[in-house]
Amino acid sequence: MKSLSIPVFTWNTLSQEEKSTLLTRSEEDIREVQDSVRSIIEDVKQRGDEAIREYTARFDKAEFPHKPLQVTEDEIDEAVRTLDPKIARALDYAMENVTRFHQAQVPAAMDMHQIRPGIWAGERATPIDSVGLYIPRGRGSFPSMLYMLAIPAKLAGVPNISIVTPPGPDGTVDPACLYAARSIGVSTVYRVGGAQAIAALAFGTPSIRPCLKVLGPGSMYVTAAKRLLSGTIDPGLPAGPSESILWADASQNTQDDITRICLDLLIEAEHGADSSALLVTDDQTLARRVAETLPALIENTPEPRREFLKKVFSGYGGIILGQNEAQAADIINQFAPEHLSIQTREPVDSVALIKNAGEILLGPFAPFSAANYAIGANAVLPTGGYAKTWSAVSVRDFIKYNSIIQMTRRGYQDLRDHVITLADYEGFPSHSRALKDRPEA
Ligand code: NAD
Repeated sequence: MKSLSIPVFTWNTLSQEEKSTLLTRSEEDIREVQDSVRSIIEDVKQRGDEAIREYTARFDKAEFPHKPLQVTEDEIDEAVRTLDPKIARALDYAMENVTRFHQAQVPAAMDMHQIRPGIWAGERATPIDSVGLYIPRGRGSFPSMLYMLAIPAKLAGVPNISIVTPPGPDGTVDPACLYAARSIGVSTVYRVGGAQAIAALAFGTPSIRPCLKVLGPGSMYVTAAKRLLSGTIDPGLPAGPSESILWADASQNTQDDITRICLDLLIEAEHGADSSALLVTDDQTLARRVAETLPALIENTPEPRREFLKKVFSGYGGIILGQNEAQAADIINQFAPEHLSIQTREPVDSVALIKNAGEILLGPFAPFSAANYAIGANAVLPTGGYAKTWSAVSVRDFIKYNSIIQMTRRGYQDLRDHVITLADYEGFPSHSRALKDRPEA
């Protein structure tokens, strides 16, 4: 069998088209499924639960005519009772850290400032009334995604939280997800995934209540559905197929360094064939040694992940060789990765050169896996280059700010003439008259 060869791209010798393919990664795949996803959405809008059950049978190979689409309290009780205590303890540890991190994001009840004497203005945070959280389960289950989304939603005070997640073939939902949902205090869980789940949350069906906003990572079908429904729901950050960049330099030169870098490169890559995983370096020796070491580690990975890794490293993965530190940083900023690990001589100095990345892990002791599960920072992150304008999920995704204004007579009199002047200039007579002819209060 032909052994895998890890591609090494020398940035300065790449054509514009080759650079663009690396920078675009799976965004192209998302565009390609839009038409089929559009027809799923239309069908769910027209036929509701019936269409959901049909798509679930087709894509998830799950048929459960005698189970409701909403998971019952008894099923949640059973999952909590029977979950392996070791898994429960690990979930408890991680959820505690995620809670600690996100508690610091909870805004004060009201924040008012005096702009001038008698003119007060500020903001009050109020939770979004209803949100849907998408928890993937195509190529593995994701209780970690559940607590990364549900904990900030709860801390924000969202009153109606719905969880959607694909069922297993027997119609059951991942028990660790149900354990996490119960611990956080969310009881509305629906066994539906993919584009059909996003459509159900957008329009509502007899079994599924509609939501104003849907957050959560997912496959290209889920990502395409959120984009297509962005006029009906707020789709939040674009969180599609996983991607990572590991930035290392010549300081990483022992065999242990090479092994660690290779192990770290495989973390995000194993999510799926559509993932992207790149080493960016300005050191040719490091590039060569990593390219030599990776194939054996990939071969040693159990299926089905081995197949994903092989596809990634012949698709959107590999090694990018930059000319120097500045070019390495520039490539990373252009790519705007979801996850970035900096393993250079001085990560704290290197990070100063980075503007665009969903999450930045400094040094060799913070592997992507630690952040995905348990450090506490949110692991639902923008992908596809959207880290140029979007941030990780936070409590702020579940609230909106109402501007609150209060003026005294003195404050009103101070600005009255200026407002009249500006309203007349802009040609809004009603604006102006409301102040000119205003009876004294
Ligand atoms: P998923 O639940 O997102 O996708 C599976 C669903 O896709 C199925 O339930 C099915 O309904 C639908 N589907 C499958 N084949 C289809 C087809 N041919 N046509 C229409 N619909 C189809 O789970 P997944 O596949 O494991 O994907 C999870 C994704 O989330 C991965 O790409 C992973 O990299 C990504 N992820 C991203 C982040 C982030 O923060 N950005 C975090 C974790 C995971």
